[in-house]
Amino acid sequence: MRGDFKTRKAPQRPPWALAEELFGAACSRCGDCLPVCPTRIIVLGRGYPEVDFKRGECTFCGACAAACKDGALLRTTDQAAPWAIKAQIAASCLPRHGVECRICGDHCLVAAIRFSPRLGGPPLAEVDPASCTGCGACVAPCPVTAISLADAI
Ligand code: SF4
Ligand code: SF4
Ligand code: SF4
Repeated sequence: MRGDFKTRKAPQRPPWALAEELFGAACSRCGDCLPVCPTRIIVLGRGYPEVDFKRGECTFCGACAAACKDGALLRTTDQAAPWAIKAQIAASCLPRHGVECRICGDHCLVAAIRFSPRLGGPPLAEVDPASCTGCGACVAPCPVTAISLADAI
């Protein structure tokens, strides 16, 4: 099982997770981080915790890291960044196909999704990576599943 951590694409781990190989070595699969998550976005995948943004968003409450006795989720300071992921919008986004939609923007608490007016079609949704916290609140509401979270390139 642990060899998988070197080869397969890593699932999205909970916030403040160690780098993937270190996480695989440290996490004992106790599951303690799952029930403490207020939005229930932490699920088990192959026995290890991962985040499923289709279930909701991360509030960055820190409960998962506080519950992790193994140090696999390690919040070293209150200011430590939880992760580096940002929202990314795929080509299936409705305004790119002439359909007005601002649903994701309505769910973004930090207004990281901007809608720039343009000629000849509805405003296009664009993520401001500097503002996006990677909370995932925009993922589930999108009617065409156009939003994913990934490390900014
Ligand atoms: S920080 Fe809080 S909301 Fe986010 S995954 Fe951990 S327990 Fe859940
Ligand atoms: S909710 Fe989805 S389809 Fe609508 S603007 Fe946002 S990314 Fe595009
Ligand atoms: S991931 Fe969160 S902060 Fe980023 S655009 Fe979506 S709702 Fe806004």
